[in-house]
Amino acid sequence: LFPCHTHIDFMSAPLSLEIFAGFAMFALIFVTLERCFPLRLQRMLRPGWYVDVTYYVTGCFIGRLSDSISLSAMLLVRWALGLNANGLVSHQPEWLQFIELVLLADFLSYCYHRAAHRYHWLWQFHKIHHSSTQMDWLVNVRVHPLDKIMGDCSLFIPVFILGFSDAPLLAYSIMLGFQGFLNHSNIKLDYGPLRWVIASPTFHHWHHCAEPEAYNKNFAPHLIIFDLLFRTAHMPRGKTPPDRYGIDEPIPDGFLRQTMAPFRKRNQPATTPKNQKRQPAILPSK
Ligand SMILES: [Zn+2]
Ligand SMILES: [Zn+2]
Repeated sequence: LFPCHTHIDFMSAPLSLEIFAGFAMFALIFVTLERCFPLRLQRMLRPGWYVDVTYYVTGCFIGRLSDSISLSAMLLVRWALGLNANGLVSHQPEWLQFIELVLLADFLSYCYHRAAHRYHWLWQFHKIHHSSTQMDWLVNVRVHPLDKIMGDCSLFIPVFILGFSDAPLLAYSIMLGFQGFLNHSNIKLDYGPLRWVIASPTFHHWHHCAEPEAYNKNFAPHLIIFDLLFRTAHMPRGKTPPDRYGIDEPIPDGFLRQTMAPFRKRNQPATTPKNQKRQPAILPSK
């Protein structure tokens, strides 16, 4: 879910470079992959593609804002707790930090993502990400600005407080950017024997499935360990990825209308049967 976080690595680079060069690079890689290994035959410029380009551009600005919020929170917490400015983990070997970072980030992302499906007020923002009825690489960036800020901060504030070194952070942020686009891509890929280890496009396509059997499943961004642990993993053997994507709730067209939608009065707590189906009580009972 968490898109285009390569801005962490390129914070010193001009934003315009990040926006245009980054978009061109991702488009080249993932359009090529979708042309070579398509899951479904569909038009490259599907309905709503230009709205998602708007999300990409604004997401780069929002990403810098959430970085600033996360860094400020980190400084505040470290000051309040009297923590060492070098962090708690930076003395460890970088390969070990990277493994710890992936596991920690997956756990934090899992918790936030699951909460975004569980709690009505968070779902009002997160459901924008689920509104596309077709899947391709660009769906990755269709994220409401507040959903992005909350998701980024819930992940990066703890990560920054722990003080990981630059190299593991760089490697992780590149992985985060690529795997986010890859897992939304219209390609057929499930990693074969590792299908229950690494989150694949097949795994994440089920998360976007519009059928009740797949509601509130497959929350993790990189590894499947926490979905297996908390029994939210769903990838039926022998079944191709779902035919129907999206949600059974009306979502307005256009970036501005979608951004304002969660603040409109009619988005009161779930009362329609469709909404109730999407948000069952999913937290572990023990
Ligand atoms: Zn997604
Ligand atoms: Zn989701």
